[in-house]
Amino acid sequence: MAKTTVTLIPGDGIGPSITAATVRIVEAAGADIAWDEQLAGMAGVARFGDPIPDCTLDSIKRHRVALKGPLETPIGEGFRSINVALRKTFDLYANVRPAYSIAPGGRYDNIDLVLVRENTEGLYSGIEHYIRLGDDPRAAAESIAIITRSGSERVVRYAFEYARAHGRKKVTLVHKANILKYSQGLFLDTGRMVARDYAGEIQFDERIVDAMAMDLVLRPERFDVIVTTNLFGDILSDEISGLVGGLGLTPGANIGANGAIFEAVHGTAPDIAGKNVANPGALVLAACMMLDHLGQSDRAQRIRRALEATIREGKTVTRDLGGTATTTEFTEAVIARL
Ligand code: NAD
Repeated sequence: MAKTTVTLIPGDGIGPSITAATVRIVEAAGADIAWDEQLAGMAGVARFGDPIPDCTLDSIKRHRVALKGPLETPIGEGFRSINVALRKTFDLYANVRPAYSIAPGGRYDNIDLVLVRENTEGLYSGIEHYIRLGDDPRAAAESIAIITRSGSERVVRYAFEYARAHGRKKVTLVHKANILKYSQGLFLDTGRMVARDYAGEIQFDERIVDAMAMDLVLRPERFDVIVTTNLFGDILSDEISGLVGGLGLTPGANIGANGAIFEAVHGTAPDIAGKNVANPGALVLAACMMLDHLGQSDRAQRIRRALEATIREGKTVTRDLGGTATTTEFTEAVIARL
């Protein structure tokens, strides 16, 4: 089988170390992947004076799939925002975050859900201004939430197609249409229309966001795939990370019309960078999502099983999981199980 080339961005802070660990694990599982390594973040600034250099964007355009370590966005004028450049260039409209219970002894041992967050519209459309009243130039402020039928349709359809492809049974649409009757109402109406195309195959369910926040804590096992607008998705996805034990094991995918970028949800962890103690698990799980996306789910499943078994055994795990192993030791324990 010909290898599929993907762009690999090691990133900043703990990025290079967890990326190297992930590449070792993916290769040990026999995945048919070739890597085109590119710079971004502070590494991009150091080499090209740009946190998201054109050669990196060109590489993703060519391969349409990237695995990305965490990036530090430099503070200061003149730098392009990494997330905005990536979101715009590749129209990354769906942010997909699966979360399931792995580590024993957590609050819940039966969580297995996937949140699909709309990533380009809503209150994060970037349309904001102040309103002057009398001599106060900032007497009021407006942030405008843009919801479009097409934007809602593609993200809800993505959630249903994801459910279909992964054998999942139910999609829950989360909204606040009781109060925001126009914007959230359009999202809900569009979602109901899309749901009809999957009737009899995938169950559809609706929840108001405040009730959902509580239900996720009380009965998280009831949910399967969740789809929601940008702001609600931002908040609920962090709540869900908390339900399964935090950042070290939460992967994310940014799916677009023109490409897909897989990453860990966590950042560059400057407090532990260079110490060989970071948990590579979240990026390893992001690589598994990438393998699923590339039709190599058998390798993805092998990696997940090896990672889960290593974590459940608890002997060779990193500090954040209550162990004493280094990144290298943890990586080698996973490879040994493969
Ligand atoms: P962070 O996620 O880097 O760290 C939060 C805490 O979690 C720290 O104590 C850290 O040590 C710990 N942690 C994170 N990942 C870990 C891992 N794999 N193993 C063990 N412990 C881990 O968040 P932050 O400190 O707010 O952000 C640091 C930098 O990362 C900032 O520059 C921020 O902009 C950037 N960031 C980038 C991304 C991204 O590229 N996707 C996402 C979030 C933050």
